[in-house]
Amino acid sequence: MTTVGILGGGQLARMLALAGAPLGLRFLVMDTVADACAGQFAPLLVGDYRDEAALAEFASRVDVATFDFENVPAESARWLGERVPVFPSPHALAMAQDRLAEKTLFRDLGIPVPEFADVESRAGLDAAVVRVGLPCILKTRRLGYDGKGQFRLHGPADLDRAWEALGAQAGTVGLIAEAFVPFEREYSVVAVRGRDGAFRAWPLTANWHVDGVLSASLAPAAAPEALAREAQAHARALAERLDYVGAFALELFCRDGRLLANEMAPRVHNSGHWTIEGAETSQFENHLRAVLGLPLGATAMRGHACMLNWVGAMPDPLPVLAEPGGHWHDYGKAPREGRKVGHATLRADDAAVLAAALERVGAALSREAQVAPAVAALSA
Ligand code: AMP
Repeated sequence: MTTVGILGGGQLARMLALAGAPLGLRFLVMDTVADACAGQFAPLLVGDYRDEAALAEFASRVDVATFDFENVPAESARWLGERVPVFPSPHALAMAQDRLAEKTLFRDLGIPVPEFADVESRAGLDAAVVRVGLPCILKTRRLGYDGKGQFRLHGPADLDRAWEALGAQAGTVGLIAEAFVPFEREYSVVAVRGRDGAFRAWPLTANWHVDGVLSASLAPAAAPEALAREAQAHARALAERLDYVGAFALELFCRDGRLLANEMAPRVHNSGHWTIEGAETSQFENHLRAVLGLPLGATAMRGHACMLNWVGAMPDPLPVLAEPGGHWHDYGKAPREGRKVGHATLRADDAAVLAAALERVGAALSREAQVAPAVAALSA
């Protein structure tokens, strides 16, 4: 019996455990809080990721370790890696945790990125803004997610306010200034690489965010084939350079028909949740196959799929469940503003059928605005 250890016990760990059950896997999840939602399906070890005694217990009870949460301290991942196989590697995790290291790597690999500059001081912010131009975004290098730890600068008057908001973090997690990209669309490539170097990518996904949080994902993205191939080639180059093992997402902006890389998530990703019902093999199953050294499953799509995120509180499930291709995912989390509590995936063989289902669900749940971009993309 193989036990997979997962650091972080949120919905990603929960969906990994659900995907691993048919493979006969056992799980142990570690989280800092006792009500982590993966604990409803797998034994939960509550402890701080920096607590060596807790990490030692975790290591003693698992055969292989992976992550649901990319901000596990890199030193903890390294410490664990000396005791038990850890995938993705602590090195890959550390690269993906740091926006500056990550963007520098993208550039080295020839993957286009928005202009960016390291910011270490208030004077450094002035210099960075000269380099990247205005408007721009000041972001923390580490520990930011879902648009948190970011400040948008529209004009020179915003420099002081940006520094007031984030300057204190220059000496701790570091700061990076990035040119603001007036993108026409956001995409992601979710991909997986096995221990043997086998690589597979799911079809390009189009994503829409609200207040920095993913709202809807559509796959396949209504995008030119060449663009999808280019995005997948970038993901492959990245995975090979990092000797990456497991599933990951590469987030991209598209501006004037050209791709610019935003960031990499070194784990299964929200924009890949549609793969549970929409692809031959889900990102969760393939991540487990990868970390266990098993053959990867096909990533081919089953028709068209659109995922809608539920943020804050769960809506009424009935309009989704009433759809022939409607699938419901309630993460079992307490409602809280801004918190991802669940998602739905609608799937259909035909784009027009999916668009009609989305319109019905949007109207029934008063989510017309949330479904509108995907409906428009499917109808274009
Ligand atoms: P991130 O945490 O970097 O993924 O940012 C969250 C969201 O903020 C992205 O998905 C974009 O919608 C937006 N965003 C981040 N960086 C930029 C940028 N350089 N230009 C325009 N929008 C951005």
